Amino acid sequence: MSALNLISEYNHEKVLFVNNEKAGLHAIIAVHNTNLGPAIGGCRLYPYANLDDALFDVARLSRGMSHKNAAAGLPIGGAKGVIIAHPSQKCQTLFEAFGEAVESLGGSYLTAEDVNTTTQDMDWVLNKTQYVVGRANVSGDPSPFTAYGVFNGIKAIANKLNGTDDLHGVKIALQGLGHVGFDLARQLHEAGADLIVSTHSNRKNMAVAVEEWGAKEVPDAEIYAQECDIVAPCALGATINYQTLPQLKCRAIAGAANNQLLDEECGKILRSKGILYAPDFIINGGGVINAAQEAYTVYNRENVLKQVENIYNTISWIVDEANATGVPEGVIAREFAENRIKNGLK
Ligand code: NAD
Repeated sequence: MSALNLISEYNHEKVLFVNNEKAGLHAIIAVHNTNLGPAIGGCRLYPYANLDDALFDVARLSRGMSHKNAAAGLPIGGAKGVIIAHPSQKCQTLFEAFGEAVESLGGSYLTAEDVNTTTQDMDWVLNKTQYVVGRANVSGDPSPFTAYGVFNGIKAIANKLNGTDDLHGVKIALQGLGHVGFDLARQLHEAGADLIVSTHSNRKNMAVAVEEWGAKEVPDAEIYAQECDIVAPCALGATINYQTLPQLKCRAIAGAANNQLLDEECGKILRSKGILYAPDFIINGGGVINAAQEAYTVYNRENVLKQVENIYNTISWIVDEANATGVPEGVIAREFAENRIKNGLK
C-alpha cells in the first residue's frame, strides 16, 4: 500500500509537508484526529531514506497517538511530527523553523520531544510557538511516568496470572535498560520481582541491575526465549514477530516499547498460545498522560499519578474482555480507543 493510501485509509484530518530551504527543514506533520481535542504527538527526527518512508512513519505514529490518547481518557487528539534529517544536522534554525510550522496549525497540533529530539530542541521550538508540551519546567521528562504506568500494568497482569499482584518471586525478562526500562527495572526489583536483562542495553545501567539488584544477564538474542512469567519489551518495536513467537516460554508480554506486535496476527498467535498481552499503547500511556496535562488543565503531579495508576484497571479490564470473548487484547484495545474517538470519552 502506498503512503498516500494509508493516509486515506486512516482518515487523517490534515497532513502538512514543510519545505523550508533557508532553514534546511524538510518535515511532515500529520494531524490524525481532533474529535476529542487538540492533537498531541512528539516530534521525531530521523534520516529517512525518502519522503515515502517518512510519510508512512508519521501516518502510523499519528494514528497510534489518537488511540493512545483516547484510551488514556485524555481530551486530546492524535498527531505526530517528523523531521527528515540526521541528528548531526540538529540546530536552532532547524527547530525554530519547525516551531513556525507548528504555529501555522493554530493550536490544532501540540508538539513534544520524541526519538532524537530533546527538551533543549523544544526550547528552540518554543521561540516560535507556545504549542509545545512536556516542558522541562512543567511536566518534565515523561519517562518516569511511562515506567510507573508500565509497572502498574505489569501488576495487573501478574494479578491475572497468579491471583495476586504481589510481585515477589515473579520472574520478568526485560529488554532495554534505557530511560524507561531502567526505572521500571528498579521498581520491579523493589517490589520483589526476579529480573533477567538482555546484554545490548546501556552498560552503566546494566551494572546496577546485575550487581545491585541481582538481575541475571543473558545475550539479547535469548531474551525472548527465557523461562519466565512476563517478558517486558522496553527497547524496540516489532519484537513480537514470527521469529520470536515460537521461542516464547513466558505467560505474558507487558512492556514499554511502542508497536511491540509486528502485526495483529501476532496477537492472535499469542492468544492461541495462552500468553496474555498488555497492549503497548495502553500500558505505556503514562508519559503522554503527564505531558498532556499541560494542554488542558493546570499541571498537577498528584492527579497525573492517579491517572497513571488507572492503567492497572484498564489493563485488567482488557484482559478480562479478551478471556471472555477470545478476541486478542490488542484488538479490544484498538476498538475501545476507536469507539471513544467516534463517540467521545463518556
Ligand atoms: P531509550 O533509547 O532510552 O532506551 C532504549 C534502550 O534499549 C537503550 O538502553 C538501548 O541500549 C536498548 N536497546 C536498543 N536495542 C536493543 C536491543 N536490541 N536489545 C537490548 N537493548 C536494546 O528509550 P526509552 O525512552 O527508554 O524508550 C524505550 C521504549 O519505550 C521505546 O520503544 C519507546 O518508543 C517506548 N516509549 C517510551 C516512552 C517514554 O516516555 N520515554 C513513552 C512511550 C513509549
